[in-house]
Amino acid sequence: MKADRNRRDFLRTGIATGIGLATGGARVRAAGSPRGAGSSVYIMTDLEGVACVLDFENWCTPDSRYHEMAREFLTLEVNAAIEGFAQGGATEFLVADGHGHGAIHPKLLDPRARLARNWGSRPYPFSLEKGMDYAAWIGQHAMARTECAHLAHTGSFGVFECTLNGAPVGEFGQVALCAGQLGVRTIFGSGDLAFTIEAAALVPGIETVAVKRGTIAGRGDECDADAYARRNLAAIHDQPVRARNRIRDGARRAIERAGTEPGLGVVRLARPFERVTTLRSRAGQPRRVGRATHPDDVIALMNGSLSYEPLKQ
Ligand SMILES: [Zn+2]
Repeated sequence: MKADRNRRDFLRTGIATGIGLATGGARVRAAGSPRGAGSSVYIMTDLEGVACVLDFENWCTPDSRYHEMAREFLTLEVNAAIEGFAQGGATEFLVADGHGHGAIHPKLLDPRARLARNWGSRPYPFSLEKGMDYAAWIGQHAMARTECAHLAHTGSFGVFECTLNGAPVGEFGQVALCAGQLGVRTIFGSGDLAFTIEAAALVPGIETVAVKRGTIAGRGDECDADAYARRNLAAIHDQPVRARNRIRDGARRAIERAGTEPGLGVVRLARPFERVTTLRSRAGQPRRVGRATHPDDVIALMNGSLSYEPLKQ
């Protein structure tokens, strides 16, 4: 398809493809080359799941005192993943700057990567396109309501829960299901331990690296939006250099395994699709719920708007 061809040409421009050859969409691997040779990796990023990003207030907004350091920590974790994927033979890297305010530091980003940001009113699937081989997540946090999850939320701290076809999904699952629809395999994720458990539940066998562990028990269902934002701050973190080394090694393992396990990272959800998002109470207003359905397109479903009404208890 033309659009796919254009995208692939764009991704390849200026990149030495080396051993990997692309012929009509099929890759031919030279004898003795790494199994992931010539493959492309999409990397979705977020800030709250990065090692030593210690809280939201001081680290995650543009006016917070350690924001620049948080951006550096995230970008260097992304670079570590790129290094690991490259060791496994990948040659193309597209990094999506997924944190709300943006957090990737372009000056520090590995020169092999391209950077995507600003998706407008229909953001899904955040520049992920058909024809890419693998999708990975760096700095990801767990979904809202997760126990022992550092800075858990789904989109915002005001979301109580988002479900797709009745199953709770977080930010990871929402994009992983888009990836599945596009034929892109979800092979790697790093973030807090609770996120890695969430990822493995949706994508059995996914390679993950936990760089910190939240220590607040309980789901926080009693919290309104403001209380939930202040709730899950306690965690035990890897030192950033150690986290990066582990991410690099995990990324290399992921791409090596993907070459030998054809089913690894294939994510599917049965049609039709139903999305239900419930919001926490805010400023004394009751909880609200919004619903939408789509017969066969999870990306269109995620981009559609929800009209909310008070939740009937
Ligand atoms: Zn997030």
